[in-house]
Amino acid sequence: MTASTDVTRELLSFDREHLWHPYTSMTEPLPVYAVDSASGVYLELCDGRRLIDGMSSWWAVLHGYNHPELNRALTEQATRMSHVMFGGLTHAPAVELSRLLIELTPPLLQKVFLCDSGSVSVEVAMKMAMQYWHALGRPQRKKFLTLRSGYHGDTFNAMSVCDPETGMHGIFRGALPENFFADAPVCGFGENCSDACIASFAALLAAHRDSIAAVIVEPIVQGAGGMRFYSAAHLSKMRELCDRYDVLLILDEIATGFGRTGKLFACEHADIAPDILCVGKALTGGMMSLAATLASTEVAEGISRNGGVFMHGPTFMGNPLACAVACASIRLLLDSAWEERVRRIEVALQEGLKPCRDMQGVQDVRVLGAIGVVEMQDPVDVAAMQRRFVNRGVWIRPFGKLVYIMPPFVIEMEDLSTLMRALVDTVAEEGAHVG
Ligand SMILES: *Cc1c(COP(=O)(O)O)cnc(C)c1O
Repeated sequence: MTASTDVTRELLSFDREHLWHPYTSMTEPLPVYAVDSASGVYLELCDGRRLIDGMSSWWAVLHGYNHPELNRALTEQATRMSHVMFGGLTHAPAVELSRLLIELTPPLLQKVFLCDSGSVSVEVAMKMAMQYWHALGRPQRKKFLTLRSGYHGDTFNAMSVCDPETGMHGIFRGALPENFFADAPVCGFGENCSDACIASFAALLAAHRDSIAAVIVEPIVQGAGGMRFYSAAHLSKMRELCDRYDVLLILDEIATGFGRTGKLFACEHADIAPDILCVGKALTGGMMSLAATLASTEVAEGISRNGGVFMHGPTFMGNPLACAVACASIRLLLDSAWEERVRRIEVALQEGLKPCRDMQGVQDVRVLGAIGVVEMQDPVDVAAMQRRFVNRGVWIRPFGKLVYIMPPFVIEMEDLSTLMRALVDTVAEEGAHVG
């Protein structure tokens, strides 16, 4: 046994004893793998194995790991200042990033709040909506309307608009604000949206308009709540209904933003703009934690009426390191042929995942942009499936019934083929096991 395997074993055993991982038991944790480094689309494990990344570290890594330009942006900024408080101070990285975000998002959005994580940007968006109505003399408007199967983060208000089952509202009943849930869209992407499909949303909005501050939804792709894709028509109808009933629309583009669905922002599929927009995840190309909430001038001026101020201000708001990396990542994206790359990934996924359609145990296969989803009929054994993926040299992390990939945009077709073959073979084994 070499010294390094000893070190790795000790690292893993300390981790198992002391570290929480996302959504895990402390007494029966699922196995974790120790990563030594990551570069391009590859994760190098401490045991020497190399895995092709199929997850982009949860939607975030667009340009691959250890990218020289992002590294340069980080180190250059670090030599100037890593952080200063944002109360009473400002700096070029924050201004530059906000300028880019305003340019790239719908023209309505002019006011930028920089925060640390996606969940916080959702909290900020929800508080903005409440404060807006409060300032306009409608303080009873404090509820939110959303779609079932949604995911908006893990903090309390964000949790209150996550799918009631997968968001575990039961555990937190009494502590969570109670909001309104419309049926998840049944229309698929590219399909029509019938009146029946939007009926429950329309009815809830009409009935509770006077207590609803905003509608909050993920546009086009519902991510961690079910990896479902719905039609641009459904999104347009939600915008129309918000206008009709004078309710704000918050779009959570934390997962979809920065090209993942084939458009820079998913709301472009429907050619609509929200009143408030959340971005995060891929904002820094996966290098640092950073998110932003953009608001319309109307929302910002409403909140600021009669000397009103927006009541939120995280310690690390507008962190210069994260902002500098975000600027570099966005420029890298815009200078790349990202649309063509995402399109190529989409075409490859459609072709490569096709064999899963006829397999035993498979419920559905769907692809949009650089996202490929195989939905099984039953929940999979995550640990066992994970092991089979690792043994095949790929990093794919299933959850529930969903086995899905969303690789970095820079992935070469050969690596994508390996990734898809591993997925198809593993799903076939799972199906054979079920059948
Ligand atoms: C991941 C995610 C969040 C939460 O972001 P965190 O950075 O994990 O707090 C919120 N909304 C959507 C749509 C997400 O995908």
